[in-house]
Amino acid sequence: MHVGLQTPSRALAIGAHPDDVEFGCGGTLAKWAAAGCDIVHLICTDGSKGSWDRAEDVARLVATRQEEQRAASRALGGRGEVVFLGWPDGELDAGLRQRAEVAYWIRRVRPDVVLGHDPWRRYRLHPDHRNAGFLATDGIVAARDPHFFPEQDAPPHRPTTLLLWEADEPDHFEEITDHLDAKLAALLAHRSQYRSTMRVEDPEAFDELERFRRRIRDHTATWGRQVGVAHAEAFKRIGEL
Ligand SMILES: [Zn+2]
Repeated sequence: MHVGLQTPSRALAIGAHPDDVEFGCGGTLAKWAAAGCDIVHLICTDGSKGSWDRAEDVARLVATRQEEQRAASRALGGRGEVVFLGWPDGELDAGLRQRAEVAYWIRRVRPDVVLGHDPWRRYRLHPDHRNAGFLATDGIVAARDPHFFPEQDAPPHRPTTLLLWEADEPDHFEEITDHLDAKLAALLAHRSQYRSTMRVEDPEAFDELERFRRRIRDHTATWGRQVGVAHAEAFKRIGEL
């Protein structure tokens, strides 16, 4: 079991939807940003299914979710740098076209650490989460070797570490005790998701927001107990990329 990577100089977090990165690794990114790490979000889909309202204006929802994602990224202490691949929500494939895009951004951003969904998590239902996980692993393989996508105008790049959140078998922990508030603030920047994801019906209702915060705190405290700290995020760590 590992605890605490050395702060990377650059990190790329790859999520299926706006808000996934904050749930998966928001505290870790906030900690690294505070220590001078450059943070870039790569969001694979447009988040266009993130509403329970059948009359929702989908184009407006997509724009709102992009703004929320930039605000969330800034709340983590980053510069709000977010790349949107814009694939339709719920229809993300882990095919060659998508892999080329992810490899291109790994080559452009040149992160030391890549973070993403664990594609091997058992009993996972949402295909976008599974496929975004495979795009992170497959994207790294393509990004590091020059004969993959040689037409790209960015040199190959090999990150040092891949951290997978929602891990099937976590073996790496990052303490986030001092950065839990930043994680919560970033999550709550995704206001359009209060109802469908966070079970908050009334955004002005303090007790509903507090119940959501408590749910997150309980979760990070459970991981923290594994390694003797107050709050942590858990990952599967893959080195030797
Ligand atoms: Zn998601």
